[in-house]
Amino acid sequence: MLIIDHMNILLVEDDRSLGEGIRDALKREGYGLDWLKDGRNAIAAQKDNEYDVVLLDLGLPYKDGLAVLKEMRGNDITTPVLILTARNTVSDRIKGLDEGADDYLPKPFSVDELLARVRALHRRACGRAAPLLVYRDIQLDPSGHTARYKDNPVELSRREFALLNEFLEHPGRVFSRSHLEQCLYGWGEGIESNALEVHVHKLRKKFYPGLIQTVRGVGYSVKK
Ligand code: CA
Repeated sequence: MLIIDHMNILLVEDDRSLGEGIRDALKREGYGLDWLKDGRNAIAAQKDNEYDVVLLDLGLPYKDGLAVLKEMRGNDITTPVLILTARNTVSDRIKGLDEGADDYLPKPFSVDELLARVRALHRRACGRAAPLLVYRDIQLDPSGHTARYKDNPVELSRREFALLNEFLEHPGRVFSRSHLEQCLYGWGEGIESNALEVHVHKLRKKFYPGLIQTVRGVGYSVKK
């Protein structure tokens, strides 16, 4: 069986010769690569592209790697991050991991080791089991797309499921209408003006009336 393991990788690294070495190695593997030489556009690039792995240097001009990482995780960008750095003290390592890095590779490193770490991160991310979401008497299984309420199965449409999933991943967060409409339809699909209300109404009916709160003038929320 032929397994084509294509990956898109974002490299954020200001060291030109190191970056060129990484670029050539990734190219030989047939991976796609975008290379940024400072931290300023790292978040925007990830909003425009889906990367499988981010290779992130810490010492970067304009905006350092830890700041980039912190902002990524704050924006719910969960792409695996491998930190590449010469700052190899224990405290830097801990800081990186605390901010949500998945792995750490001290410079200098061999390209073969880099590739092995990248493959491992990618495998882990793909096999990552979606955890069961439990909220009060509601259970949502994102991998099987099934729901239960007080231990009884509840039939949900694809869009109802997507909407409830978004709420239950972030109880207490108030979501704007436009955000929720994007969850329902994705980009480019037409949105009927009352579709969101209809789905919210159906979810309240299938579970209980107080499940989803209307936040006047803003949107909707599920209580923490
Ligand atoms: Ca650097």
